[in-house]
Amino acid sequence: MEQGVGVSAGIGFGPVLKYLRADLSSRLQCAGTPGQEAQKLADAIEELKRENVRLAKKAARQAGEQESGIFEAHNAILEDEEEVLAPIQEQIAAGKSAAQAASDRFRELEEAMGGVKDECIGARAADFRDLGERLVRQILGVDAPSLERLEEDVVLVARDLSPSDTVMLDLVHIKGLVCEEGGPASHTAILAKAMGIPAVVGCKGILARAEQGRQLWLDGDSGEVFLQPTEEEKAALQKRAEKQRRRRETLEVYRKKQTTLTRDGDCVRLSANIAGPQECALAVENGCEGIGLFRSEFLYMNRPDLPGEEEQFRAYVRTLELARGRPVTIRTLDIGGDKAVPAMGLPAEANPFLGYRAIRVCLDREELFRTQLRALYRASAKGRLRIMFPMISRLEELRQAKQIARQTAEELARRGVEIDARVQLGMMMEVPSAAVLADEFAREADFFSIGTNDLTQYTLAVDRGNPLVGPLYSHCQPAVVRLIAGIIRAAARRGIPCCMCGEAAGDSRFIPLLLGLGLKEFSVSSPRIPEIRRLFSRLDGQGCAELARRALKASTEQEIQTLLNAAADAALP
Ligand code: PEP
Ligand code: MG
Repeated sequence: MEQGVGVSAGIGFGPVLKYLRADLSSRLQCAGTPGQEAQKLADAIEELKRENVRLAKKAARQAGEQESGIFEAHNAILEDEEEVLAPIQEQIAAGKSAAQAASDRFRELEEAMGGVKDECIGARAADFRDLGERLVRQILGVDAPSLERLEEDVVLVARDLSPSDTVMLDLVHIKGLVCEEGGPASHTAILAKAMGIPAVVGCKGILARAEQGRQLWLDGDSGEVFLQPTEEEKAALQKRAEKQRRRRETLEVYRKKQTTLTRDGDCVRLSANIAGPQECALAVENGCEGIGLFRSEFLYMNRPDLPGEEEQFRAYVRTLELARGRPVTIRTLDIGGDKAVPAMGLPAEANPFLGYRAIRVCLDREELFRTQLRALYRASAKGRLRIMFPMISRLEELRQAKQIARQTAEELARRGVEIDARVQLGMMMEVPSAAVLADEFAREADFFSIGTNDLTQYTLAVDRGNPLVGPLYSHCQPAVVRLIAGIIRAAARRGIPCCMCGEAAGDSRFIPLLLGLGLKEFSVSSPRIPEIRRLFSRLDGQGCAELARRALKASTEQEIQTLLNAAADAALP
């Protein structure tokens, strides 16, 4: 048995599919004669062009004409005699292999475009990267691993998945996910949870030990991974799966409820975090009372270009429609850190979590920000929308973001576009500098949402995705708890709503403390909603307030854990 960290509940089993991005560099050099290599290049280009025509048709069917244009543009690049074909052919004539020559030329083209602060040019750099990679694979006859459409059930085993890989996962056939890296607050873990895929992360050495095609079982609660379970172990796992199924059944009644009440009748709001409109329907099905966090950056991933105003507008309106009158908080673009948007051609950074991220990018690339804001304001006429800015660390940033938002709204109104001019403009509370100045921010923001994933990593100086420091990462640290308390108090003093959308909001043991600190809105991954709603029905305000009073006096994590354990024993007989 292998041990990792369970991050998305459920028992999963199936044959192993190892997801490896093949390193093709060692295979680039072996060359035939220049004539043979030139022929390989010509064949690969023809095949790729045929594939692009197929993909363009499919994209037009599934996503509209605009999306199919990407593949037409790729074919135009493959036919570019001067910039693409001639330079590769020259290098082949000079003795390079077709794969090496193509790889070198596409890298040159990508580098020429990369780093330029212009969205269109950045998108072109991503086109060259994507196309260059596909051409080299075609020449070498290597299939690209695809996670989007699988033929049979599998358990995916990988070093780590990028957030963009994770949103592409085939939800029908991927029965589980085991990663060597990542922690509970990594985006891979968060997304797996939202998608209801049992997942274990931080399972060291699993790639070497798991055998392609052999059965693997995992328990996304306990973090256990079984490579060759004995019959007894299998029976025990099946029993656990059965128990979980029965538990889901007993929770059915809480899924159907539309409100969340504590034992003493206090009302809290239980909302859901989503990464796109497609998750909103599931969230409503799971009984959410609103969308507390729509991570809009996922609209920008897995594509060679950037979404335009129209496309974003449609995604936001779709979400509001699916939310059927429930409030929806959409967070503006939060890229950087571990969330890459290839189309933006952002430079590599030594400390990406401390670098060119989120609101910093948006205030620097104002047109990109205004495009998103126009789409948001236009959508605001169609439902109950709130706009939220990520990674605010200074008051000036909030003021500037609000000013750009207001100007955008005014421009639209002048043009006679229907908008809701009173859309609330709030902010993520996820940087310690903002938490310390929570009172000042509460005077200028319409609402707060506490992002404990980043707040924890920045307060404790512990990378949220690095398993080496995983044990040091905890929202139960007194410093984090006191910052959370300060944020909730500041919001209450100024009378603005305060939600929590970080993973701590869905931590059953932590919830009584949050309730005791006065938190009234919790936004969690939607499959957790029924269970959390039941938990609230067992909590009473006074007991939780007493727990909070004690926790705020604690000076070590251990003291807080002891208090939480005692409260959990009392609430969960
Ligand atoms: C957070 O930091 O807690 C948060 C909700 O944002 P993200 O996980 O997308 O960084
Ligand atoms: Mg964050």
